[in-house]
Amino acid sequence: MYDLVIENVKLVTPQGVCAGGIALREGKIGALLEEGERPAAARYRDGEGGFLFPGAIDTHAHLNDPGYTWREDYSHGTAAAAVGGFTTVIDMPLQNEPALTTPELFDKKQEAVAGRARVDYCFWGGLVPDNFGQLEGLDEKGCVAFKSFLGPVSPDYAPLSYGQAYEAMESIEKFGGRAGFHCEDISTIQWLEKRMKEQGRLDWQAFLDSRPVAAEKIATLAVIEIARATGCKAHICHVSCPEVAEVIRQAQREGLDITAETCAHYLCMTQEDLLQKGPLFKCAPPLRSAAQRDGLWEYVADGTFSGIASDHSPCTWKEKHTQILGRRIENVFDVWGGISGIQSVFQAVFSEGCLKRGLPPEKLALAMCEKPARAFGLWGRKGALLPGFDGDLVLVDPNQEWEIREEDLCYQNPISAFVGMRGRGLPVAVWVRGELAAENGRPVGPEGRGRLVRKEKEGRK
Ligand SMILES: [Zn+2]
Repeated sequence: MYDLVIENVKLVTPQGVCAGGIALREGKIGALLEEGERPAAARYRDGEGGFLFPGAIDTHAHLNDPGYTWREDYSHGTAAAAVGGFTTVIDMPLQNEPALTTPELFDKKQEAVAGRARVDYCFWGGLVPDNFGQLEGLDEKGCVAFKSFLGPVSPDYAPLSYGQAYEAMESIEKFGGRAGFHCEDISTIQWLEKRMKEQGRLDWQAFLDSRPVAAEKIATLAVIEIARATGCKAHICHVSCPEVAEVIRQAQREGLDITAETCAHYLCMTQEDLLQKGPLFKCAPPLRSAAQRDGLWEYVADGTFSGIASDHSPCTWKEKHTQILGRRIENVFDVWGGISGIQSVFQAVFSEGCLKRGLPPEKLALAMCEKPARAFGLWGRKGALLPGFDGDLVLVDPNQEWEIREEDLCYQNPISAFVGMRGRGLPVAVWVRGELAAENGRPVGPEGRGRLVRKEKEGRK
C-alpha cells in the first residue's frame, strides 16, 4: 500500500522521458509505474499529462538568515523556492550575521532557521583567510562545500588571494571536500573600476567594462590550475559566458573534478537589459551579450554544468535605488549587486530551454537535479526519479502560459529582474519528501517541514 500515486505523467528520468506514474511511500519514491499501472494507494493524483521532474536543487542562494532578514529569510525564501520547484536549497554562508565560518556557527545557524523552512536545505561553509583551521570541523558538521571569493565582496567577508586559495585547497583536499569560488580576478576589477571612476564614467556601460570576461576567465583558470596542483575538488560558481564554460569543459575532459554552475539570468537575460533597465539587472559577474547567452545553452545541453542556480541575492528597493546601510547611492558602482530569482528559475529555463530551444527535459534534469546532487554529496537521496530516493517532485504543466508579476512573488522584497518576463510551462505542484509543498503558485501546508540535509560521507547519513 502506497501513500500516494501520481499517474498520467511524463516521467523525466536519467534515461529519458517516458509516460507513466510514480508511487510514494513514507516520503520516498517506492516505484516508477508503467502507463496505466495502478497499485493500491491511500491517495491518487492525476498529473494530466504534465512532466514530472525530480525536485530541483539550487546550488547557490543567499537566504540572508540569520542576519539580514529584512532582505530575505527562511520563511519567505523557502516559500518562493517551493513554489518555483527548488526542493533543496544550498544556502550561502555570507550575508549572514555572523558568516558561517566555524562548526559552532553551523549549529547556531541551524537553530536559527529550523522550523521555518518549506524545502530541504544544505549549508555552504564559509572560506575566508582566517578560518582554514575550521574547515574540517565544518565538513564534519555536514557542509556540502566551501565558498570563497577571488573578486570583490561585501565588507563582512574577505576574499582570498591565489596563494591563500592554494593553501585552503591543500587543506580541503585532505578530507575530500569541495572548494567553491566566485571567479572574478580582484586586481583586474579593482583597477578597471578605478579607471572608470577617474574618467568620470559612472554609467552602466562602465560597470560592464569594469568586469570583463577576461577577469572571470583569469580567476577560473587560476582555480583550475590550483585544483590540478593540489588535487582538490573545485566548484566554479555562476559562470556567465561560454568562454569560461569552455575552459571548465576542457578541465573536465582532462579528468579534473571541477564542477560548475550557471544561473538562469545568464541563460535568459543580456547586458542590454542592464543598459536599458538598470539596477535590478546588476549582478556579478555581469550579464553578457545575446550571443554569449545563446552560447551558454550548449554547455547546459552537453552536461558541463552541475547546477542552474538562482544566486538569489535579494535586497530592498532602496538598496537598488537610493541607499545601502545608510550610505547614499551615488552611481552604478554603489548599487546593490544581485538578482532575486529563486521562485522564477525553473519556469524560466524550462520555457527558454526546453520549449524555445528544444533542450530535452532530461538534460534540464541532469543540470538541475542529478549533477548538483552528485557534486554536493546528496546523490542517493536527491537528484533523480529512482526508487529509494526522496519523494521530491515537480509537476510541470507545459502548456500553462505565465507572466512573472511582483504580486505573485513570495520574497520578503518582491522585486526582481524576472518581473515582466513571459513564457510557457509552469510548476503546478511541488512535493518535498512526499508532502505537497506548493500548488498553483502558492505554498501549501505549514512551515518547518523542510529539513537540514548534510553532505553524504562514508559512514555518515
Ligand atoms: Zn552569490
